[in-house]
Amino acid sequence: MSTVLRGVPVVPGVAYAPVIRPGRLPSLEDEWTGEVPESDRAAEVARFTAAAAAVASRLRHRAGLASGAAAEVLSATATLAQDRAWLGAAEKRINAGAPAVRAVVGAVEQFADMFTQMGGLMAERVTDLNDIRDRVLAELLGLPEPGVPAPDVPSILCADDLAPADTAGLDPTRVVALATTIGGPTSHTAIIARQLGIPCVVAVEGLDAVGAETMVLVDGTAGTVAVTPDPVAAGEAVAAAKRDAERAARWTGPGATSDGHAVAILANVADGAAARSARQTAAEGVGLFRTELCFLNRDTEPGIEEQADVYAEVLEAFAGRKVVIRTLDAGSDKPLKFAGHAEEANPALGVRGIRIAVGNPGLLSRQLEGIAAAGERTGNPPWVMAPMIATAEEAEHFAAQARSYGLTPGVMIEVPAAALRAEQILRHVDFLSIGTNDLAQYTMAADRMSADLAALTDPWQPAVLSLVAMTACAGAAAGKPVGVCGEAAADPLLACVLVGLGVTSLSAAAAAVQGVGARLAEVSLARCREAADAVLAAGTAADARSAALAILSASRRVHP
Ligand code: PEP
Ligand code: MG
Repeated sequence: MSTVLRGVPVVPGVAYAPVIRPGRLPSLEDEWTGEVPESDRAAEVARFTAAAAAVASRLRHRAGLASGAAAEVLSATATLAQDRAWLGAAEKRINAGAPAVRAVVGAVEQFADMFTQMGGLMAERVTDLNDIRDRVLAELLGLPEPGVPAPDVPSILCADDLAPADTAGLDPTRVVALATTIGGPTSHTAIIARQLGIPCVVAVEGLDAVGAETMVLVDGTAGTVAVTPDPVAAGEAVAAAKRDAERAARWTGPGATSDGHAVAILANVADGAAARSARQTAAEGVGLFRTELCFLNRDTEPGIEEQADVYAEVLEAFAGRKVVIRTLDAGSDKPLKFAGHAEEANPALGVRGIRIAVGNPGLLSRQLEGIAAAGERTGNPPWVMAPMIATAEEAEHFAAQARSYGLTPGVMIEVPAAALRAEQILRHVDFLSIGTNDLAQYTMAADRMSADLAALTDPWQPAVLSLVAMTACAGAAAGKPVGVCGEAAADPLLACVLVGLGVTSLSAAAAAVQGVGARLAEVSLARCREAADAVLAAGTAADARSAALAILSASRRVHP
């Protein structure tokens, strides 16, 4: 009998294979108790320091062999393994008499509690810390490094959460899908799965009970894990997904429905390198350039010329094409040291995005100057948009400033208040771009980083899609474009629904561009509209998805 477990879809695709699970450390009972005599404490500290250094050096070595996000994740974990704060806390415990093993566990627990209380991105680092703890313990005990076994046959890796250092070393021909019990859509597991291009589902309820070697079918589009499914049906599902992937690879754009209704398919990028790689797809331009991601490690504000250099790289990569640059979305999960954030009890509802410009107007005007300079230098005049707009007055103010630099202004719709007042906002700006990640967070009052609340922040939530419909409707009435640049646009099925709701462009991670474009090309605008009506009438996110799937699959014009 097959059971279907539900989770949050992160990377689309389907795989059917036996489960493997990461190795665990044996019980540490014997190493745990007792006191280290004072005369041996210096040696015990040295043993601990050497173990931590060995772990860091192995991680750095693997970072050198990896590339892209995998290399970054491994180096970040190596840096954390040598972090003075937790090393110091462990040493202090050893100097007070604790054996190294107990000191490591205690020190990590102390920092994990602190990170958990801080919430958001910091809470996600707890998995990294626990991973480092297990590696250092294995080193101290002379055991093999814990982690993912190298499978002999293609397998599906299931775990509570995956340590970044494990996922970063995966071979996608051997590990063909990932599923985790915890972890959000922005966790390291999700980032690495996206880079490897293997299907991934996170926050899967009941996954703990699925043992190694059980056959499972992971559907990274629907967000399901079918346990011991019918092998014939599972094989057909994999074959159908393979055909979809092949069609996606063949799609050459431009974006349009099967009956020729044009919808630009654009890419989300974080810097020049990402833009150059997005240019290899059929993306027609950039719908979201997240500029804050270029400066996350900066202590001081980059100068106007330096900013212009960074922006010009993206404009050059998409020369002659539309590029939408978003002004700094600093704050909350993306604090910038130079933005002067004050301590806030609730940063997601605090001074973030455009709100920073109130206390620090120069930051925005210098950025607009840098963007304008990049536009002039490259001969590719960018559109520019502000994040986290809540009122028409904020939009008016931003638009006036952007226009004074000769830029085409728009704003993001990420706050329900802005969706409700889209008509008034559109009197001031030339376009809107809907950020469904934050729009879902604020509509559902559910932290987008929380795995526990992932079902609420699902972009298929009818309430979120009602606000998208309202915004698109205001855009149509004003004759101005309304795009979607949140993760919703990366889901090929939901992308068709968004078009049916009246959205005029879709911007997604480069890896998703081909799949979205190919899927849209198979359905007519009328079917997209029918699916949009069904979704708005649905009671739940799951019903919305099933209704859309039934309508859009029935009408698919599939060319072999
Ligand atoms: C969004 O909120 O949907 C969005 C695109 O912005 P970010 O994910 O960068 O907050
Ligand atoms: Mg946002």
